[in-house]
Amino acid sequence: MSALDPRHALFPGSFDPPTLGHEDLLRRALALFDRVTLAVAEHPTKAGFLSFDRRVALLHELAESMDAAERLDVRRLDGLVVDGCRDVGAGVLLRGLRSGADFDYEAPMAGTNRAMAPEVETLFLAATPAVSHISSTLVRQIAGLGGDVSSLVSPTVLAALADLPAAGEA
Ligand code: ADP
Repeated sequence: MSALDPRHALFPGSFDPPTLGHEDLLRRALALFDRVTLAVAEHPTKAGFLSFDRRVALLHELAESMDAAERLDVRRLDGLVVDGCRDVGAGVLLRGLRSGADFDYEAPMAGTNRAMAPEVETLFLAATPAVSHISSTLVRQIAGLGGDVSSLVSPTVLAALADLPAAGEA
C-alpha cells in the first residue's frame, strides 16, 4: 500500500448547491494543505436540486476563482469516502462542524472510517461564525419557495439557481 499524503485533504460532500459555507471551508483548507480534492457525491437518496454535472461545473468555477486550480481537484465520489482518499492519495478526510448536531452525525462516521482505514486521518474544521448558519438544505428550501439566497451563496451559484424551475413548475 502506498503511503497517503498528509498534506493532501479530501473534502467530500453533496454540494447541492455549493454555499458560502463550503467556500469558506475550502479557502481555509487551501491555506492548510498543499493539495485539496473536492469529492462530489451523487447521493441518490437526496432529491437532487442541481444535477451532479451542474454541481461539478460550479465547483470548477469556484476553484478557478480561488486562483488555486493547480492545487485543487474536483472529482466524483463513487463509493466509500475512505476509498476516495486512497484513490487520490489523500491522508486527510476533511469535514466542517457547524454545531453539536453536526458532531453527533460526524463522530460515528469518523470512528467507522478510522476502523476501515486507520491510515486516513479525519479532521474537522469549526465553521466560521459568519457562515455557520448556512446549509445547502436551507438554501434549497428558501430558493424553492422563491426566497432570496444571495447572502448564502456566491453570485455564480445564485445565477445557476435562478435557471431552475420554480417549485410547482415542471
Ligand atoms: P453532506 O451531504 O456530505 O453532508 P454537504 O454538502 O451538506 O454534504 O456538506 C459537506 C461538508 O461541508 C460537511 O462536512 C459540512 O459540515 C460542511 N459544511 C457545509 N456547510 C458548512 C458551513 N456553513 N460551514 C462549515 N462547513 C460546512
